[in-house]
Amino acid sequence: MTELLNGSGAGADYFDGETPKLRRVEIHLNTGERALEIRTPDLPMKRWAFADIRTVPDQADKTWLALAHHDDPVARLYVLGPQIIAELRANCPDLRQKPPVKGRGRLFGWAAAAVASVALIVFVLVPVMANQLAEILPPEGEQALGDTTFEQIRSAFSETGFDPIAVCDELDGRRSLEIMQARLTVGVDLPYPIKVDVLDYDLVNAFALPGGRVVFFRGLIDEAEHPDEVAAVFAHEIGHVVNRDPARIALRTAGSIGVLGLLLGDFAGGTVVLFLTERLIQASYTQEAEALADAFAHETLAAAGIPPSSLGSMFRRLLEEYGDSEGIVAHFASHPALGDRIANAEAADALLTGAFRPSLNDHDWRALQNICG
Ligand SMILES: [Zn+2]
Repeated sequence: MTELLNGSGAGADYFDGETPKLRRVEIHLNTGERALEIRTPDLPMKRWAFADIRTVPDQADKTWLALAHHDDPVARLYVLGPQIIAELRANCPDLRQKPPVKGRGRLFGWAAAAVASVALIVFVLVPVMANQLAEILPPEGEQALGDTTFEQIRSAFSETGFDPIAVCDELDGRRSLEIMQARLTVGVDLPYPIKVDVLDYDLVNAFALPGGRVVFFRGLIDEAEHPDEVAAVFAHEIGHVVNRDPARIALRTAGSIGVLGLLLGDFAGGTVVLFLTERLIQASYTQEAEALADAFAHETLAAAGIPPSSLGSMFRRLLEEYGDSEGIVAHFASHPALGDRIANAEAADALLTGAFRPSLNDHDWRALQNICG
């Protein structure tokens, strides 16, 4: 048996997925057996074959590594230290493969009563408290939450983990966004200004964050065939902001994770915010929240002289191109039937009374398309 690390092993934290407890363990890379050995005084030694070890995806903090095992996907091993991380990366061939989804059922192997009471807290009490908290959250706190989440998203989508994805800042393109925003926020009364950014990333998606932030991925602007389609999505996201949906979902998720954290022991801080980030991007809003944001968009677009059917045409092409499981479709289509939403957007063209004015002229639309340079 060959041991690296001068035979002394390295420290790590281990969560077995069965008991709500993080254990300090000693790990050894056994290069002869091609396996990672996990040793604790109170448990039989576990052996994870190098080929079966996966990293937990979307980890922001690169100073430690969260590992899962192919056949034991609920367990987690948290490894700290550049040397051991480098050795793991060198030895485990499929480290970056996605961990399998199977085996989650083991989480529910805890005593039934405990699970039921946790479920009550996480799914009933926390959402109720989140709705009330969202009402009293000061605007400054909400903005700070939005800013933190924005930075987390930039890091989470980074290829290398070191350079956050770029905020697109071509001046003419930013000016186009301002023109569009001015058209869509007439009479909107918020405790903070809407702040919109484009991130230089291929994903076809847009979402709202707490504190009035609206974020487009460049992929959505690339996909649009007319500026009114971008304006329609913008109006939908402003609808979420006006309805305080991002603040509510952020508090609900943070609250649920807080409760889970108490039970599971020490959740790593980065994981908590990432969880939150994922929820906000996927924007698993209720059907009611989506319908209200659509209705806001229809009225706002019509009042600005932009056809609300632009929202429908964006949905329609995305549905044709991506089916119903990817990118923006996953966000916009998660709950209500997309067909109904397309029909509603088209019917809302009847709200148009004044003159039709495109959301951007050709020059400004080209500037927006080049906002990432
Ligand atoms: Zn939405």
